[in-house]
Amino acid sequence: DGSLSAKLRLTTTHAASFTGVITLSTKEERARGEERPGEYSDRKKKRKVSDGGSEATAETDHKTPSSASTVTTNTSKACATTPASKPPCPVGPVDPMKLKALSMGFTKELRILLTKVESAGRQTFNISELEEQKIPLSKICIRNTGAEVVRACKGTRVKGKFKESFLLPTFSVKPNIATTALIPRAKLNPPTPSIYLESKRDAFSPVLLQFCTDPKNAVTVIRGLAGSLRLNLGLFSTKSLVEANAEHAVEVRTQVQQPADENWDSSGSTQTWPCESSRSHTTIDKYAQYQASSFQESLQDEKESENEEEGEETQSSETSEPKTAGKIIKFGTNIDLSDPKRWKPQLQELFKLPAFMRVESSNNMLSHVGHTILGMNTVQLYMKVPGSRTPGHQENNNFCSVNINIGPGDCEWFAVHEHYWDAINKFCEKHGVDYLTGSWWPVLEDLYSSNIPVYRFIQRPGDLVWINAGTVHWVQAVGWCNNIAWNVGPLNSFPAYQYQLALERYEWNDVKKVKSIVPMIHVSWNVARTIKVADQDTHKMIKHCLMQSIKHIQILREQLLAAGKKISYQSRVKDEPAYYCNECDVEVFDLLLVTSENSSKKSYVVHCEDCARAKSPSLGGVVVLEQYRMEELMRTYDNFTLAPSPFSK
Ligand SMILES: [Zn+2]
Repeated sequence: DGSLSAKLRLTTTHAASFTGVITLSTKEERARGEERPGEYSDRKKKRKVSDGGSEATAETDHKTPSSASTVTTNTSKACATTPASKPPCPVGPVDPMKLKALSMGFTKELRILLTKVESAGRQTFNISELEEQKIPLSKICIRNTGAEVVRACKGTRVKGKFKESFLLPTFSVKPNIATTALIPRAKLNPPTPSIYLESKRDAFSPVLLQFCTDPKNAVTVIRGLAGSLRLNLGLFSTKSLVEANAEHAVEVRTQVQQPADENWDSSGSTQTWPCESSRSHTTIDKYAQYQASSFQESLQDEKESENEEEGEETQSSETSEPKTAGKIIKFGTNIDLSDPKRWKPQLQELFKLPAFMRVESSNNMLSHVGHTILGMNTVQLYMKVPGSRTPGHQENNNFCSVNINIGPGDCEWFAVHEHYWDAINKFCEKHGVDYLTGSWWPVLEDLYSSNIPVYRFIQRPGDLVWINAGTVHWVQAVGWCNNIAWNVGPLNSFPAYQYQLALERYEWNDVKKVKSIVPMIHVSWNVARTIKVADQDTHKMIKHCLMQSIKHIQILREQLLAAGKKISYQSRVKDEPAYYCNECDVEVFDLLLVTSENSSKKSYVVHCEDCARAKSPSLGGVVVLEQYRMEELMRTYDNFTLAPSPFSK
């Protein structure tokens, strides 16, 4: 169905050397409408793979004689479009029909350079492929092949570190939330979306997933979910935990008990944002004793005040609430339930949850990290007495979070949509507390006067709280209770929102020199390798991130080689973690700059480019390890195509 043509052009450009170009071009011509979408993508894939292949061989010859370029131009004119010289993609939305039309009837060509050389009195020909025409780096976009991205990098001199963002600057899927319109006071306390499930089946409905992950819904409470699913929460009761692992480690926060909507400074005269607490360690057994005795004490107090009341009618009648008069309390936090052997019945019970809420599922980005991130893709437990505070925060890298109250007491929650995080950040700055790493408890009046709506609700035993991506929240125990929590990064409902927020925080962490607990570049490559992404926005964002990653790697690679560094390939092994810079905690992907801190002990330390150069500008003593072949990354990038939507049939 195609025609094959071969041209041979010979041009003499120099008396001593003889240069020729052979062009073999296969022209594929098809009638419009003949091609079905499946065939198109299939053919496109093949083309990309062959592109990658020719790139690999073209690399062997960098010294193309300058005279050859004139010949190349001639040949290009003679042909129709070639993959390398197709017009750069437009910035705006692309008409898929036009894109399709462009792909029809393209030609494939292999340009070969013949150079006559004389050696030892004999004439021979050197045969090498011509370097393909480069697209300027500034014109490169996600519709270019991996080979084209790499080629564009090769032709660009970048001085110093390549600092482009992994995010598309002009593309956002965040909901439109008006900030200019003044919200009436009454609406600054919006009702929290609360879902009552009528049957067990409703928990598994895609509607629930959609509701929880909708970017407009900052937080959702699913009332009595544990009851609907017949979850045995008793497995997480203090009694069961002691029976299971009495000696297990508990981190303790010592805090001052106060009403949930107040946060007094140390002098007790004004309300403030910082809420520092001191940290210590204990065991489940010891905390359990503390929790029980705290409860007994309060029963005793209640009895006494009842007696007083009988004697004196003038006393306050508020005896149902625990006393909140600046008592020192201990909060048992971050108890690690990751060990599947130690916590088998507990972890098994959580398999009863709908897939999107589970600790592990194929559509959860955190299940594609390839290693454990404690408290994120594993379960953490919290043991509380009234007043125990989890200060304000967004989850690591803005991931969603799932929290179940085990009971017997309640918890009180406060939540603010992601849209307002920077306003809260500014309050923290004003009060001298670090937004990302410090402990702070928002003064509600400050938020209301800044026109920020705050969700406030009670989580009863058996209620599941879904914190959507990026939601700022803070929690206080009303009664004595335990909670379990973990993170999820759903890729099957509004995935672009989660992905965008995760990458945004990844880059903000970089600016603030705070470690991104989720190694987003590593995760993005893993997702591209293993998941079929059918959502166009998500595909676009991930593909862009991969493209930026290729650029970062290729440019650094060239700079290292130009500086005379040797790059040693060392492939990754199973369960090998993502790497972070030893000095600044930035994720280091693919090219690891390694020093041996103590040669006799064989301890190796990974550095980022900046920190390695800060130590030694010439990178003396630094070994460069490469964890992926460039061809491998290019292949993953090229094969990461938009999957057909399951709903389009
Ligand atoms: Zn560093």
